[in-house]
Amino acid sequence: MEYIVLDNEWHTPYCKINGKCINELIEIGAVKLDENLNEISRFSVLIKSTFTKKLNTRFQRLTNITTEEMLRDGMTFEQAVNLYSEWAGDSAITMTWSNSDLYVLLENFRLRRKINTVPIISKYIDLQKYVQNEMIAMGRKITSQVSVANAAIMLGLSIDGIGLHRALDDSLLCAEMLRKVYDKKRLLSYMIDTSSPDYYARLTFKAYIIRDLNNPLVNKKKMEFKCEKCGADAKRVIPWAFKGHYFKSEFVCPKCQHKFIGRVAFKKYYDKVVVKHNTVPITVEQTTNAKKSSDE
Ligand SMILES: [Zn+2]
Repeated sequence: MEYIVLDNEWHTPYCKINGKCINELIEIGAVKLDENLNEISRFSVLIKSTFTKKLNTRFQRLTNITTEEMLRDGMTFEQAVNLYSEWAGDSAITMTWSNSDLYVLLENFRLRRKINTVPIISKYIDLQKYVQNEMIAMGRKITSQVSVANAAIMLGLSIDGIGLHRALDDSLLCAEMLRKVYDKKRLLSYMIDTSSPDYYARLTFKAYIIRDLNNPLVNKKKMEFKCEKCGADAKRVIPWAFKGHYFKSEFVCPKCQHKFIGRVAFKKYYDKVVVKHNTVPITVEQTTNAKKSSDE
């Protein structure tokens, strides 16, 4: 079994064809480890931008990659990816510090090869997630995502002399962090298979609230309400209105005359629709609305 710790550097030039800025890969760095985390080999390549002849100064300062270096040593995306595939083989477990690298790799493969997958990764572990959870288990208070440098410092590693934000250096530092908190069984429990056909469709799907009552995903059965007092089928007395993520209407019970507001929200996820269904007393609802409008 082999692990690869992969790190990418990208910049965000304007892409005329797409009419927006894109995250263009500029450097790939990686280190391959055996299952005891001994280093097997290293990988590092620069990619020449096809959108700009000059790297912006912030990127150059952050990465120490200069325009001259990119123009001199940079290869095409295809060449870089092919070299990487050859080096990586196809059975290693790939790790990156947070899954944002997956999004950027996907963007580049979409752009260059018109595909919706990242063929250079199959078995994958989000190393940031694993390391952070290990640190939390060790009693650290961590509430947000920690950068490579900060995590290294928290683990007592020296980052002096490391050219942080060069891809290879970052991957070596990540490997060093992994050695500090390595538990094979726990690490492997984070492994996912990104080569399954719908992995990236699922990853990039943005959940949304359905606002249109005529949307076929709106299950009309879920818009019925029972009287909370006596259990009879309540009757809707005004048309549905959409407000604050919910469809809302007023209901009245034909048996006991109890009146209330029924609210239903439909949220679409990749492969399901989650329904929220609740009621609010009419008086509270009106007071809240009155308060809201006086606040505005
Ligand atoms: Zn009733």
